[in-house]
Amino acid sequence: MKNLNKTLMVLACSVSLLCGCSSQATKKGDDATTELYQRNVLALSWMQNAAEYRALCYQAYNGAYEHVKASLKQKTDKPRAIILDLDETVIDNIPAEATINEVARNGKDFNDYWLAWESMASANAMPGAAEFLKKVDKLGVQIFYVSNRSCMNVDFTNKNLKSLKFPMKNKIRCKDNTSNKKARFDKILEKYNVVAFLGDNVTDFPISIYGVNGEDRNKIVDKNSSQFGVKYFVLPNPVYGEWFSQIDPNLLKQSHSKMVELVDKSVKNEPALKKAISK
Ligand SMILES: [Mg+2]
Repeated sequence: MKNLNKTLMVLACSVSLLCGCSSQATKKGDDATTELYQRNVLALSWMQNAAEYRALCYQAYNGAYEHVKASLKQKTDKPRAIILDLDETVIDNIPAEATINEVARNGKDFNDYWLAWESMASANAMPGAAEFLKKVDKLGVQIFYVSNRSCMNVDFTNKNLKSLKFPMKNKIRCKDNTSNKKARFDKILEKYNVVAFLGDNVTDFPISIYGVNGEDRNKIVDKNSSQFGVKYFVLPNPVYGEWFSQIDPNLLKQSHSKMVELVDKSVKNEPALKKAISK
């Protein structure tokens, strides 16, 4: 990811920014890149406007809260806790993503823009997030934010979460040297009975999926299917994420036009229908 191609900012920027990776400015006037930007607009619009998006957020938080509440009836030898991701799990960066979508189109540098966004500390809470966190806090359950935002800029994130009145009893487990959250999860699990995990990326869950590409990601999720909606709660995010590796493990290293080709190929149509309606 370090030598991220100056391509696919609509897809790659978001991944790289949340992984804390470097990226370069996008070349102005590249047709394939422009096309990819335009494709991402629909996903951005859905997250900002669709009632269905809000409903899915409420669904995740309500399910998680019911599970946390029910866990209080079970005996435990450790204090109870929940672990949450931050970006697109409890805070909303989609206005920034939309802006980046525009700015990158003009060939400006993505990383500078992201730092500006982080330093503004003005991300809003996702629908239902603040209420959910408040209720969990009231139950006496510890709340841990495990985020791949860089530890270098964690003061901005602290400021942002405080302004949203999120419970902040435990320090943010930010990204030091790896985006793999396993070590940070394990450290919390040593002392706490973690009763729920919430995230918008499957790497936000302790299912050993970090670094896994392609179809194998689906296999791991299938293996853990009984836990989703039970202990693991997923928030929707079609705009960015490591799921791009399922289009192609090397998607982000491809030329712009190759990326467009690979994205197109990843969508499977129904040949019989195509034949019938093409007559
Ligand atoms: Mg996230």
